Amino acid sequence: MQIVCLDLEGVLVPEIWIEFAERTGIPELRRTTRDEPNYDTLMKYRLNILAERKLGLPDIQDVIAGMGPMPGARDFLDDLRASYQVVILSDTFQEFAKPLMKQLCWPTLLCHSLVANAEGMLVDYRLRMPDQKREAVKRFKELNLKVVAAGDSYNDTAMLGEAHGGILFHPPENVIREFPQFPVTRTYPELRREIDQAFARVAG
Ligand SMILES: [Mg+2]
Repeated sequence: MQIVCLDLEGVLVPEIWIEFAERTGIPELRRTTRDEPNYDTLMKYRLNILAERKLGLPDIQDVIAGMGPMPGARDFLDDLRASYQVVILSDTFQEFAKPLMKQLCWPTLLCHSLVANAEGMLVDYRLRMPDQKREAVKRFKELNLKVVAAGDSYNDTAMLGEAHGGILFHPPENVIREFPQFPVTRTYPELRREIDQAFARVAG
């Protein structure tokens, strides 16, 4: 049995915070862990800005629905799901991803979650567990599945290393340099070819 673990942002959909900052014209929301390495501080800062701007979850979801998946993502995913089991492992929040999952025809997604109050304002966030992408791959292997994983960035490299085959998709140059062990793909046909080849290697 074979399963593909895919990252979400930067692979199937745009970077949600960055794109959200563009669409709402709130440049402060472009801040990432590169600017603020403490994730908790960064998240509290983001949730504060959303509250200050009176942006509740329904408003946020409307903006996210407008982003849509990347061109070709839906077809790539549909074809992949016809051949393999597929699970999306993401560090986003399920409430943010939901409008995009709908447009991708509801693939399985394991990620984190947000806490909203009665007025729909976001008050907190819940990380499901530390290092969840890698842990998921480990557990799938224990279930006797062959795992191929693909992602675009640092937060994917542990999952790529844990899988039987790890593939980079559209990674930044510094990730390519630091992780030369992973093949680099830049289009969906290239990614699909690498996934097929990785499974063929594991089987052989
Ligand atoms: Mg990503």
